[in-house]
Amino acid sequence: MAGMLYLVPTPIGNLGDISIRCRQTLEEADFIAAEDTRVTLKLLNHLGIKKSLVSYYEHNKAQKGNQIVERILAGETCALVSDAGSPAISDPGEDLVKQCAEQGITVCAIPGPCAVITALSISGQATGRFCFEGFLSTAKKSRKEHLESLKTEKRTMIFYEAPHKLPATLESMAEAFGGDRPISLCRELTKLHEEVIRTTLNGAIELYQQQAPKGEFVLVVAGAPEQEEETATAQDAKSRVEELMAQGLSRKDAVKQTAQELNLPKNAVYDAALQA
Ligand code: SAM
Repeated sequence: MAGMLYLVPTPIGNLGDISIRCRQTLEEADFIAAEDTRVTLKLLNHLGIKKSLVSYYEHNKAQKGNQIVERILAGETCALVSDAGSPAISDPGEDLVKQCAEQGITVCAIPGPCAVITALSISGQATGRFCFEGFLSTAKKSRKEHLESLKTEKRTMIFYEAPHKLPATLESMAEAFGGDRPISLCRELTKLHEEVIRTTLNGAIELYQQQAPKGEFVLVVAGAPEQEEETATAQDAKSRVEELMAQGLSRKDAVKQTAQELNLPKNAVYDAALQA
C-alpha cells in the first residue's frame, strides 16, 4: 500500500506554536523532508524527536522530489516541513504536493502557523476579501509590472518581503498605488520583537529612511478605494442633447447618442431635453 505525504506547519517564531498533531506526525512519519535540515534538526532536538531527514529545497527539488515520491509509493509516510510556517506557501513544497497529487498519493495538510494569515488577522486591514501575492520579483521591471497589475485591486493585498528589499519595494508600491495607501507592516510575528506598524506607504518610506528595516516582514496593503461612479445629471443630458442638435443631429438621434455616452436611460434623457 502507498504511503502518504503530510504537510506539517512549524512555528514562525514561537516554538510553543507547534501543535500536538504536528508533533505526533513528525514522530510517526517514516522520514521528514525538510527545506533546511539544520533548521529542522533544531526543532526536532527541541521536541526530543529523532528521525531520518532528507533535504528538499529550491535547487534540488526536481531530483529529490522523484526520490521522495518513489519512497511514498513504496509505502513510506513522509512529513514535509519548510523552514518556518506552512509548507507549500511560497516555498518549494508546492511542487512536491503537485507531484504527489499527479501520482495519486494522498496528501494531508495539517493546519498551523502561516505568516500570511497571522499577518492578515493582526493587520487591522479589511479581512473579508484578500489576495496573497507572495514575494515580488527582484527584477525592477517585473516588480513594477506586478504592482501595476494590482493598481485597481480592491481586495486587501498581502506580500512577503525580505528586509533589505523593503525600502525599494515601498517606493515601487507608492508609485503604483499612491503614497496615501494604508499599509500594515507586520514584523517578527510571534517573536520577542513582534511589531505591527499601521501607516501609509509614504509613512513607511519615511520611517525606513531614518532606520534600516530589520527582521522578517509581511506587508498587508489596503485595496484600492471604491471609485464613486459619477452619475450624469439631467442638466448634463440636456446640454449634451442641445450641443448635438446644434451640430445637426435630429432630436431623436441626439437623445440616443447622449443616453449611450452618459449611460442614462433614453426616456430620462428625452425628459431632460424637454425641460425649460
Ligand atoms: N511557508 C511560510 C508561511 O507561509 O508561513 C513562509 C515561507 S517564505 C519563504 C518566508 C517569508 O514569510 C518571510 O520572508 C517573511 O516575509 C514571512 N515570514 C515568515 N515568518 C515570519 C514572521 N515571524 N514574521 C513576519 N514575517 C514572517
